[in-house]
Amino acid sequence: MTKRDYYDILGVSKTASEEEIKKAYRKLAIKYHPDKNPDDPSAEDKFKEAAEAYEVLSDAQKRQRYDQFGHQGVNGGGGFNGGGFSDVNDIFSRFGDIFGDSPFGDFFGGGGRGGKRVRKGDSLRIKLKLNLEEVANGIEKKIKVKRYTSCNTCGGNGAKGGTALKTCSTCQGSGQVRRAVNTMLGQMISTSTCPTCNGEGSIVSDRCEVCHGEGRQLTEETISVRIPAGVADGMQLNMAGKGNVPPRGGVAGDLLILIEEEDNELLKRDGDNVVFDLYVNFADAALGTSVEVPTIEGKVKIKIDAGTQSGKILRLKDKGIRSINGYGRGDQLIYVNVWTPQQLSREESEILEKFRTAHNFQPRPSKNEKGFFDRMKEFFQ
Ligand SMILES: [Zn+2]
Ligand SMILES: [Zn+2]
Repeated sequence: MTKRDYYDILGVSKTASEEEIKKAYRKLAIKYHPDKNPDDPSAEDKFKEAAEAYEVLSDAQKRQRYDQFGHQGVNGGGGFNGGGFSDVNDIFSRFGDIFGDSPFGDFFGGGGRGGKRVRKGDSLRIKLKLNLEEVANGIEKKIKVKRYTSCNTCGGNGAKGGTALKTCSTCQGSGQVRRAVNTMLGQMISTSTCPTCNGEGSIVSDRCEVCHGEGRQLTEETISVRIPAGVADGMQLNMAGKGNVPPRGGVAGDLLILIEEEDNELLKRDGDNVVFDLYVNFADAALGTSVEVPTIEGKVKIKIDAGTQSGKILRLKDKGIRSINGYGRGDQLIYVNVWTPQQLSREESEILEKFRTAHNFQPRPSKNEKGFFDRMKEFFQ
């Protein structure tokens, strides 16, 4: 299924402010909330779609990546499980705060869903350095991550021997307390998180000795990540469920992997193309030769024709970077620079002096000889 444009989903312009985005999302969330549309199965999909769009567009960093790279930029490619939401509760655990303590806070809570939200743990952020070869072809990386996982001793609830927890007496287990708020429109009921149990609905009376009631432990894990070809510096890949588990049960947060590109000494990246500056000496340019040039896949021999001009651009087809969209591959461009000697011995000077006025040494660019600007136009249009 092709993903719809996030701006289209929310019905806002590409230049919409944070406030406009929030407003648009709130409107859609209320309209399509599954509890309000029990007879319309497509409502839940629309509801999730809106939440996904909001998740990206409400985050300045993600929004920028989305503007730059589209869905690939925020969801990663290939093996990544980004963006999408599977569970309506999950959406509340993330965005509940925009409905928050306003009189609308009760809007969803009252609908028989029960006030208790599935809690989501923190996301972890790591940086991952990739060299040009890895970027060009994609790679499977093993990453060591320290993250909170469920405590094995108590099974994650934080109680000694995994015994049952005590129901919170303040909220009677609902995790929320209700209070009446006087507004201009009259009295409305507002709900907020229970201060006694922090919304968990239960209390650990006898703590597990291993996790001290946390229900989770710090563990070191080696995670295998498939990096799709064509990623770029500053992109972030999202591995759902590989972040921290929250205390005493819930959904694990995400692992966010920030891509950093290592500089390559010889090859420079230009979009999906790779650029190499080749210097040939004056005699080689005039007489022709063959030279070795580095590529992402090792050295390649190329022919320099007799009479090659400085500024000529040679193209090695499909030797660039695979497109992140999965279509095609960039080229390697070789910029030929003819090196003019900067120091000459007496003998060299004497020989060259003889050619100064020689017929064939006089510049005589033909009509087909393209100047610098034409060549640039040809390659970059
Ligand atoms: Zn424990
Ligand atoms: Zn409570």
